[in-house]
Order: sequence, then structure tokens, then C-alpha cells
Amino acid sequence: MRPYEHLIVDIPDYPKPGVVFKDVTPALADAQAFSAVVDDLSEHFMGRGVTKVVGAEARGFMVGSAVAYRLGAGFVPARKPGKLPRATISESYDLEYGSDALEVHADAFTPDDVVIVIDDLIATGGTAVAMARLVERSGAKLAGLGFFMELAFLNPRPLLADVTDAEVFSLIRVE
Ligand code: AMP
Repeated sequence: MRPYEHLIVDIPDYPKPGVVFKDVTPALADAQAFSAVVDDLSEHFMGRGVTKVVGAEARGFMVGSAVAYRLGAGFVPARKPGKLPRATISESYDLEYGSDALEVHADAFTPDDVVIVIDDLIATGGTAVAMARLVERSGAKLAGLGFFMELAFLNPRPLLADVTDAEVFSLIRVE
């Protein structure tokens, strides 16, 4: 068991009945836990020439930007529609509890970039698929996807395998 696992709080029936929401904010608020999460994710992807980390609004920003800093990489925010001020590319996706779209600036990645996707949690995999597509459409190399937590019982990996052969790495897997 990872030393920060006990800091994740289950919230039953949030944001809708039947969903158990995994609240990672206590693990982010604890200084030792937060740095351990960031270090464990960063160390996994170290030495691979990562130039950019992409993370989804909003919890992906928290972990993703810290990992980018630790790897000496840039950070690209993937945002909900209409939030970015310049020309964007967009991908829609299905959530465990709804559907939405994510956008990045059209010039966020170049074909020279080596990119990893970082998010707090992968559930159905839809959000991660959208980010993987945004990276690959831009011609950049997708070097991997890293998550604080994977809801493995929702079986997200086959969906990802349909769009990328990049490695998927999770610190905590919920079977
Ligand atoms: P998905 O696209 O289904 O893989 O959902 C992943 C995104 O939705 C992540 O950015 C999570 O922050 C959020 N999310 C989905 N399901 C949950 C859950 N059960 N608990 C916490 N966050 C979730």
C-alpha cells in the first residue's frame, strides 16, 4: 500500500447516485503525501526526454503541473470548451457521470515534443483518451499516461489501447 493511500476519501453517491467519488484533496493538502505522489509519478517517467506534461481541468492541473516542474518539462492545460483565449483543437469524451469536451491551444504541442498525460484519476478512460488524441493529432510523441489512481474495475485500459500504445502507469489501482 502506498503511504498516501489512506488519505483518499470515498464519497458515496457523489456527484450522482451510484458513483463513489474518490476525493484526493486530503492527499494533496498533506505536505508529505503531496510530494510523495508527485515524486512517485515523476520518477516513473524520468529519463525519457519528456518535454511537456498535459493535464485536464481541474485536478489534473494540480498533479500535472507539479510533475512537469519535477521533470523539467512544460505544462499544457487541457481545458473545458471556451476557456482558452486563442485557436484550439478539441476532443469530446464520455465521463463516468456525463459527457464533455477538452481543448488545448492549437500550437500547444509540436512534432518535436515528447508528452505525458497526467491526471488525478482514470475512471472510464474517456478523459485520458481525449488528451491522448489531442497529443497525437498534433504530431507529438505520446510517451505515457500517469495517474494517481486507477478505477481498474471500470476497465479503462482497453479504451486507451484503441487510440495509443503508450504505457499506462497508476500509483494506486482500485480492483
Ligand atoms: P474518466 O474520463 O471516466 O476516466 O474520468 C476521469 C476524470 O473524471 C478525472 O479527471 C477525474 O478527476 C474525474 N472522475 C471520474 N470519476 C471519478 C470518481 N469516481 N472519483 C473522482 N473523480 C472522478
